[in-house]
Amino acid sequence: MSRFQGKVVLVTGGGSGQGAETCRLFAAEGADVAVADWNADAARAVADEIGARAIAVDVSREAEVKQMIAAAAQPAGRLDILVNNAGVGYSESGRFRMASVVDTPEEAWDAILAINLKGVAMGCKHVLPIMAAQGGGAIVNIASINALVAMPGADAYTASKGGIVALTRVLARDWAPKGIRVNCICPGGVDTPMIAGVVEQLAAENRELHPIPLGRIAQPAEIARMTLALASEDASYVTGVILPVDGGATAQ
Ligand code: NAD
Repeated sequence: MSRFQGKVVLVTGGGSGQGAETCRLFAAEGADVAVADWNADAARAVADEIGARAIAVDVSREAEVKQMIAAAAQPAGRLDILVNNAGVGYSESGRFRMASVVDTPEEAWDAILAINLKGVAMGCKHVLPIMAAQGGGAIVNIASINALVAMPGADAYTASKGGIVALTRVLARDWAPKGIRVNCICPGGVDTPMIAGVVEQLAAENRELHPIPLGRIAQPAEIARMTLALASEDASYVTGVILPVDGGATAQ
């Protein structure tokens, strides 16, 4: 298959987990891929593996996001697909610790909102004019089912992901006349480094965070495949959609 032959694709957070898998699948289907991550070594490793370009970026800094978009678009003079995937959740270090709002230090609140929400907004801000000028494009934002159903003790993360859902809808509405589609995926639990500590802890305690009808968390490729579907021409009439990819968790 080469659904993305001739398409230029930029994936943030492409150095790990779902982002890395998304880069692999786009490359396998013919895209010219730019792998962006603040972990420059991880971005380089994925890029080398799939014959892509690597870009070092901290998505919470607008100046760096602007440079990232320009670098991704520069060789071909276009940028067809942006996947705003970079995000932070749980970390043992405590900086991004998931906690109730009363237990969330201001520094953690600011950091989580700046990366997870402002990062998405800045990516859109700088890619939309390019997509409009070239006559269209597709953006896929990665939120979380935390934006759709309340999970205990992840308040800043939840607020940031809820913001992505709302932002997706307004951008889809405003930019549809320019031929730009903006959609959002809300993954449930996915087997990536982000939640490895949580998964380990739950397994040790023989309990689950929430019931999943399909009986397991997702593999990264199961999210990535839906990202490609929304970015592809198969979804030419789909915009403003908030798609849970969660094994049925939010269907209950
Ligand atoms: P991951 O930790 O494996 O990957 C996240 C990547 O984003 C890492 O490579 C990291 O270096 C990068 N990143 C983080 N902050 C960045 C920044 N400021 N600038 C640039 N890059 C940055 O986790 P993942 O599960 O692949 O997460 C991908 C997305 O999916 C995130 O937005 C996450 O919130 C979301 N998500 C994950 C799960 C899950 O269970 N794993 C569930 C729902 C949503």
